[in-house]
Amino acid sequence: MSHTAVIVEEGRHNADDSIEQVLNLANSLGDKTSLVIFICDNSNLNDELNNLDCDQIYVIKIDRDYGTPLPDEVVISSLEWLCKVKNIDLVLMSKTAWSLNIAPRLAFRTEAAYAHDCIDIKREGKEISCIRPVYGGNALAHISLTSDTPKVATVRAGSGQIPQKVSDTIVPIIEVEPEIDSKDLRVKIIKTVTEIPDGPDLSKAEIVIAGGRGLGGPEPFEKLRELAQILDGAVGASRAACDAGWIDHNFQIGLTGKTVTPNIYLSFGISGASQHMAGCSGSRNIVSVNSDKNANIFKDSKYGVIGDWNIVLPAFTAAVRELVNEN
Ligand SMILES: Cc1cc2nc3c(=O)[nH]c(=O)nc-3n(C[C@H](O)[C@H](O)[C@H](O)COP(=O)(O)OP(=O)(O)OC[C@H]3O[C@@H](n4cnc5c(N)ncnc54)[C@H](O)[C@@H]3O)c2cc1C
Repeated sequence: MSHTAVIVEEGRHNADDSIEQVLNLANSLGDKTSLVIFICDNSNLNDELNNLDCDQIYVIKIDRDYGTPLPDEVVISSLEWLCKVKNIDLVLMSKTAWSLNIAPRLAFRTEAAYAHDCIDIKREGKEISCIRPVYGGNALAHISLTSDTPKVATVRAGSGQIPQKVSDTIVPIIEVEPEIDSKDLRVKIIKTVTEIPDGPDLSKAEIVIAGGRGLGGPEPFEKLRELAQILDGAVGASRAACDAGWIDHNFQIGLTGKTVTPNIYLSFGISGASQHMAGCSGSRNIVSVNSDKNANIFKDSKYGVIGDWNIVLPAFTAAVRELVNEN
């Protein structure tokens, strides 16, 4: 019987909705399914893991002297070892910034075929067939993974159902201690600094205020933050603004950034390239300010203002502030 492993991001001790969706997809293949968690102490394991629909949970115990979080090389080395000793032939991860880094490198190390950002996966005999959006979501590619070595794929969050646990069977938890190749011990993480946004999480915010290259520099993002604070919204950006270093890449919206589906998406100085729209076209109301009447973003916008953000944004912020204060 084929064996599929679903990997939980290192540093997490439970399975969130996106992992449950990946598990559901794994179960639909009819394989033996395992959940894989990195942990240093079993007491940290969340009780809810018992309710998951999988055949077993592998707890990878690793010496925390390697650093917290674990260096990527140690994670990849452990997964490579696990695939070998447990005969895993398909490795699935939820598509996150973490898996974007780990999955292709694991595929390279195991000489595996790799598919990224899948929305559906099927088994066809020995082959794994993956479906993923391409060209900014305008077409679907069907990719066959045919390698004899383990296959690796990442799955887009929101693809598939969250399963209902049907039986009360307790899932066996199996501790494993991987052998880490000494050549993978070159990096030790000494300190990590997490940036905590002031307002709501960009992916979940009901109002997103995004800025692009048209803003001309980092300072105008302060003005977007001011508006976001009044509206309890989150600030995002186009890739051009992130690449220019005006705002961190964590705030990038689009094909290679975050997907947002707010009630209101307010954009200032963004042209609306297909790669940007791939991350925001699911918004219920897109409102755009752009000085170019032919800007692509107006095609997707419910409301558009043809004008200079330098004039529109301060006037809009003042009007919103007044309305909020009145109420
Ligand atoms: C593989 C790939 C992946 C990509 N992934 C992403 C992604 O995830 N996210 C993303 O955003 N992009 C992505 N891109 C880049 C994308 O193609 C565009 O280059 C980028 O979105 C452009 O950003 P922008 O709209 O801010 O800049 P521009 O296209 O330069 O647009 C700036 C806009 O500002 C307007 N403007 C200028 N001055 C003013 C003013 N004073 N007032 C009002 N408006 C003004 C202009 O009319 C123009 O429309 C990707 C590209 C590739 C090839």
